[in-house]
Amino acid sequence: MSPVAVSPLSHRRVDLAPSLPGLIETVAPASLAMELGIESGDRVVGINGLPLVDALDFQYQAQAEHVVLDVERRGSLLRYELELDGDEFWGVTFADPTFDGVRICENACPFCFIKQIPKGMRRSLYVMDDDYRYSMLYGSFVTLTNLDEADWRRIEDQHISPLHVSVHSTDPELRVALVGNPKAGRVMADLARLERAGIDFHAQLVLVPGVNDGPHLDRSLRDLATFGSRLHSIAGVPVGLSRHGQARQSKQLRLSRTCMRTLPGKTIPVRRYERHEALAVISQAERWQERFARERGDPFFYLGDEFYLMTGSPVPDTAHYGGFPQIEDGIGITRHFLDSVDSYLRRAKPNTLFGADGTVACGELIGPTMREAVGRFNGRTGAGLDVVPVENVYLGAEINVSGLLGGQDLLTAFGGRHDARPLYISDRMVSQRTGTLLDDMTIEKVETVLGRPVVPAADLSDVARDLRVRTRVRPQAAA
Ligand code: SF4
Repeated sequence: MSPVAVSPLSHRRVDLAPSLPGLIETVAPASLAMELGIESGDRVVGINGLPLVDALDFQYQAQAEHVVLDVERRGSLLRYELELDGDEFWGVTFADPTFDGVRICENACPFCFIKQIPKGMRRSLYVMDDDYRYSMLYGSFVTLTNLDEADWRRIEDQHISPLHVSVHSTDPELRVALVGNPKAGRVMADLARLERAGIDFHAQLVLVPGVNDGPHLDRSLRDLATFGSRLHSIAGVPVGLSRHGQARQSKQLRLSRTCMRTLPGKTIPVRRYERHEALAVISQAERWQERFARERGDPFFYLGDEFYLMTGSPVPDTAHYGGFPQIEDGIGITRHFLDSVDSYLRRAKPNTLFGADGTVACGELIGPTMREAVGRFNGRTGAGLDVVPVENVYLGAEINVSGLLGGQDLLTAFGGRHDARPLYISDRMVSQRTGTLLDDMTIEKVETVLGRPVVPAADLSDVARDLRVRTRVRPQAAA
């Protein structure tokens, strides 16, 4: 296996570069790293005399048959010279998977959410990342506009797959305007290159009413349908517009000046979906889903849950989502949640949580669905949970999903209530990386101000588990 040339990134726009690149966070039991005595806190410096740029580079280079691994431990350099089979389980995770920082986007999308958020939130939220490594590792969407030839070669040679691509429109002129970058018009050629290289990919269309839905959406789906099995799914999500974003609409010309030079006179009016427009998108999607089900075996084009919830339409059933290929992007998360409730209630014995109570806080959009689910939960378990849909005061009431509520919203909704019962919030509100809420407030701070426990939970079985501990109700065997 010959090393792949990875171009230095110092000239690239990057952010959040770790102070200690290559720092090992965990070492798995029964792994090669553990066998070698490598420890958490060690730092990988290079392999075969070459520095590494990220965790993917490590995974690739460390699978060679002859590996010279340089590791730094408390200021000393350790060298491991290894003859390997080429399919080793190294079992290490890194504190920061990208040793050179996070690649920043070169775009100016008129709907960019990062430009819509106020000051004082989690620092990482202001990072306008467009990094193909994060796309492969965590499912973040990338536009591919900041890739140079060395990046493309690396993706091909190291087979960095799957990738998640923000397409928005396959019409070159419209995509240039939607992404605010003259390079954005080549998206079909970029996707064809991924396909030729055997890279799997998912596509996303952020839909802006009256801009890239209707006939433009038909064209995008028709064009994307020309790709074979490397394209796994397409998602259509409605554009999000915060209170701050609406106030800044007048500045959009300045935000997307690059694209204005390319397409003089072209403006993208960004606004939220009205109910009748969202219903039209659902009907249009259903026609395509039927066609894709016939031709490809599954609906293939999935709408964001917001379309169903904002129109009061039932969310599709589990079979529709075909394995939930874009659940990280929130596609089908409502059905997934309802499935988890059904599954829990099938197992739970009646009245095992009698006398236990607390409050479930959620975004306003999911409020009616959450009330119905918690009503069934209470009916089965005997618990007395109530549900409070919380208005997003911080970002604006138009942002109504649970995951974008901040600590300030909880303080506004629950402050001064003198209620000591546990408050359950979605674990999607809490950063896995920093443990803080969207506005950088800690859970402990919210608990202190409200005078009640605040518990992040993935679903109602997490809530049940916590209630059991608090009320010392003995866990019951599944029915
Ligand atoms: S790609 Fe567009 S939406 Fe994403 S960070 Fe860049 S400007 Fe914002």
